[in-house]
Amino acid sequence: MMCFIGTDVRLRYKPNLVRDGEGLLRKRKLNLGGTANLYIRPEQRMFVRLFGAFCLLKIIIDLKERIIMKKGFEKYIPFEPVKLPDRTWPDKVIEKAPIWCSVDLRDGNQALVNPMNLEEKLLFFQTLVDIGFKEIEVGFPSASETEYEILRALIDRNLIPDDVTIQVLVQARPHLITKTFEAISGAKNVIVHFYNSTSTLQRKVVFHTDMQGVIDIAVEGAKLIKELTQQEVAKTGANIRFEYSPESFSGTEMDNAVLICDKVLETLGATPEHKVILNLPNTVEGMMPNQHADQIEYFCRHLKGRDSAIISLHPHNDRGTATAATELGILAGADRVEGTLFGNGERTGNADIMNVAMNMYTQGIDPKLDFSEMNKIKEVYEQCTEMKVHERHPYAGELVFTAFSGSHQDAINKGVEYMKQHNSEYWEVPYLPIDPADLGRQYEPIIRINSQSGKGGAAFIMQQIFGYQMPKAMHPEFGKIVKAACDKAGREILPKEIFALFEEEYLNVHKPYNLKSYKIYEENDVENETVVHFEGNLRFEHMDHVISGVGNGPIDAFFNALKTVGITDYKFVSYSEHAVSEGANSKAISYIQLECPNGTTIFGVGLDSNISLASIKGIICAINRAQK
Ligand SMILES: [Zn+2]
Repeated sequence: MMCFIGTDVRLRYKPNLVRDGEGLLRKRKLNLGGTANLYIRPEQRMFVRLFGAFCLLKIIIDLKERIIMKKGFEKYIPFEPVKLPDRTWPDKVIEKAPIWCSVDLRDGNQALVNPMNLEEKLLFFQTLVDIGFKEIEVGFPSASETEYEILRALIDRNLIPDDVTIQVLVQARPHLITKTFEAISGAKNVIVHFYNSTSTLQRKVVFHTDMQGVIDIAVEGAKLIKELTQQEVAKTGANIRFEYSPESFSGTEMDNAVLICDKVLETLGATPEHKVILNLPNTVEGMMPNQHADQIEYFCRHLKGRDSAIISLHPHNDRGTATAATELGILAGADRVEGTLFGNGERTGNADIMNVAMNMYTQGIDPKLDFSEMNKIKEVYEQCTEMKVHERHPYAGELVFTAFSGSHQDAINKGVEYMKQHNSEYWEVPYLPIDPADLGRQYEPIIRINSQSGKGGAAFIMQQIFGYQMPKAMHPEFGKIVKAACDKAGREILPKEIFALFEEEYLNVHKPYNLKSYKIYEENDVENETVVHFEGNLRFEHMDHVISGVGNGPIDAFFNALKTVGITDYKFVSYSEHAVSEGANSKAISYIQLECPNGTTIFGVGLDSNISLASIKGIICAINRAQK
């Protein structure tokens, strides 16, 4: 927003007496917003009034022009789309990974507040190799001594695997090209990437040249590169390939972009066997992704040497749609993508290769890049670039596998259970587009519990982390307890705190009834039916009470024993149990649901290595809780 100088000026007439050299004179003081004082004689009053009126009028006209007539957005020229009514890309789908080229160490690095030092660049390079990049742009060796040294370190220390091609960038200028060839000497596989700007705007405001001038620069550069390559190959047998970028491609008239690229292909002698990479930078993203795709399809269709070229994308993210532009660009015919990890790069950054690759992965396509150790990659990235990966960054952010909302938690819970029960070979979990395990992340942090969480969330944590499978009917009861704790704490509750609540609520309840000792035995009656006897010592009201009962199972027998001391009002509703492992030992845990005298139901939990005792403990727990 422009600052309107003068809009705050208030013209104030204020009678004043001022002494001057000629004695006491009646004068008027004009205070201009407190910043300038003008002293005038009475006979000049009319002039001042007219002047004031003029200023006021000027201010009103200015304001009208600036605020009402001229709006900020009107100074921008809209992008003019390519005319391609018979475009074919919208009906296509991505079926395979493109050739990836990381430009982290060049485009990404040049945009850092503190560019990487040698050690950081080497660490980053190794990380890119580990991820699976086969083409890595390592720098601009003719532009700085540091970049030159880094390239030499990679070559001289033999750090470049045989199946990895390093790429070096150079402007299409003779002395820089020569220096670049010195820098790559001894490398096995190299892409010499040269460029010059072709955009309409840059031709007008930067280079003051016409298209022919721009073509001449590219062709001269190509000639020299070809010549130096022949010398280097003769000397070392290196495998040198070429890449040409009409820089600011997307701001260039498409026919001019096609023309210059065909000239370059011709000069370099590109053939279908020895293809040349034509990299088409969306140097400043200034159009919608579909318009970018139209440009790519138009370019591919009109390029004479299409068979002899590898079409490469180099999107930037000024509009926040670099990922979309990359994907649509692939549909439109691109074979290769240049970008960076997490989208680092000039201004808003480059296309985020991880994002594009993982998008393919979640569509069932092998991206040919391995992000299974996402946290480690992120760590290296953050260390080397001093940048942060946002908490909500796709696939990589700290919070992207976390569900806070109750309905999401519940659905995730059901999805995970469904997959287990059906042994599903596909990922079928709502709200999670990807299995966190595929990125080296764990299930634990998927669900976090705050006051927004639903009844299923705490149960999910208990099941996923601690192995306690509470029956469904118990979820609301425990959920309410956890929610109350969240509200009280006013913050997120961690899994260990949830477990502590569970222990306190269900496992450490020994009052008012406490079973001191017991005996259970079976007996077969004359009809050969098994009856179970329970005998025990139940302490309550400061006294030990001997109780005994008979039933068709331990639970039944215990219930009958309780009746002998007047505990008769509880009805058995449901029972479930499973094993939990505690260190080396396995224990049984049972969940008992009883109906209370007032008609409500309540759960009790019993944990014991003896399965019958686990149930009995569960019953006592429920009764104790009911009497709290
Ligand atoms: Zn770039």
